[in-house]
Amino acid sequence: MIRLASIKLLEIRLPLVAAFQTSAGVVGERRILLLELADVDGAVTWAECVAQSLPNYSADTVDTCWLAISDWIAPVVLGRSFEKPQAVHKALAERIRGHRMAKAAVEMGVWSLVALQRELPLARLLAAESAHARQLGTGSGETVETGVALGIEASPGDLAAAALTAASAGYRRIRLKIDPDRDVQFVEAVRDALGPAAVLAVDANGSYVPKDPQHLRALEKLDTLGLSMIEQPYAHDDFARHAELQRTLSTPLCLDESITSTATLDEMLALGSGRVVNLKPGRVGGFTEAIAIHDQCAELAVPVWCGGMLESGIGRAYNVALASLPNFTLPGDLSPSARYWERDVVMEPWTMDSSGLVRVPLDRSGIGVGVDEGFVNDLTVREKKFGAR
Ligand code: MG
Repeated sequence: MIRLASIKLLEIRLPLVAAFQTSAGVVGERRILLLELADVDGAVTWAECVAQSLPNYSADTVDTCWLAISDWIAPVVLGRSFEKPQAVHKALAERIRGHRMAKAAVEMGVWSLVALQRELPLARLLAAESAHARQLGTGSGETVETGVALGIEASPGDLAAAALTAASAGYRRIRLKIDPDRDVQFVEAVRDALGPAAVLAVDANGSYVPKDPQHLRALEKLDTLGLSMIEQPYAHDDFARHAELQRTLSTPLCLDESITSTATLDEMLALGSGRVVNLKPGRVGGFTEAIAIHDQCAELAVPVWCGGMLESGIGRAYNVALASLPNFTLPGDLSPSARYWERDVVMEPWTMDSSGLVRVPLDRSGIGVGVDEGFVNDLTVREKKFGAR
């Protein structure tokens, strides 16, 4: 039984190691929404909302999530008793359409509180609630394999250099962001630099247009470069065109933005729109739906991997726990803290060994990392606390 006594929302600005260019200008810090949840018995946990500043990955943003949690989600969950975390998912799904990243932040925090209550590491709790993990009887893995996503660089040579650096750091899969202006030449340069055996993938974030013959030619050329997957070439809601493309390419298509629920997964499977799923718990409304998608994919031998949303070390803890489930058979975007942050908000920054493995913290209950509350306080630009009435 779980009953939330309070939710504190905080917006922080976390300095990035390297500033990056966006349509809105150069960004040197990440706006992040953190949550501190407390249950009526005094257990406290931190959680993270993965929404970004602008609605260019999904419709959710830091500001829409602040509104959704304040006005709609907190009133549904505070002071009410829930049998298990899945019941929180259900209560939110019944009352609030969309706003999945906002719901996920609260729902995943509840999973962490339940793990604390039961004195279990979060990864163990997730494994106990996954039908596939129970069937295998293996529980959660002790390490997770890590890959890296590389942003678009100025030239193919620059990208190849960045890929070589990433490969020598130990990353097990290198994924390149591409768009129709920067694709084949860039990927060829990386393939040449890394050699034929390197695991290489591309992610187009929906930037290709189905009826453009030039775009199709580029995708057909990419199909000859031995990629492990081509991720989300077309728009998030275009299952039919993805299916058409998958029939003409031998490289597996991976869907990311398209998969928001088990229903959209069914659509992908029924139409043949892809053969791999990039599973991000924030995008699907939290762990209840993420575990259901993981289990359903496992049944049909569809591999899943855990994508990243430029999380702080708090969000990373939730992703690492999820990625320890047994059908996460491809490396996830679980880079160490030092890749992104000058200083992370957790007491034990995430690290990766030289063979690309991140350790799952199985020696502590809950999310397995402490939060540097003083540092969070210094970074906070606004906060609001909601209590049970
Ligand atoms: Mg993606």
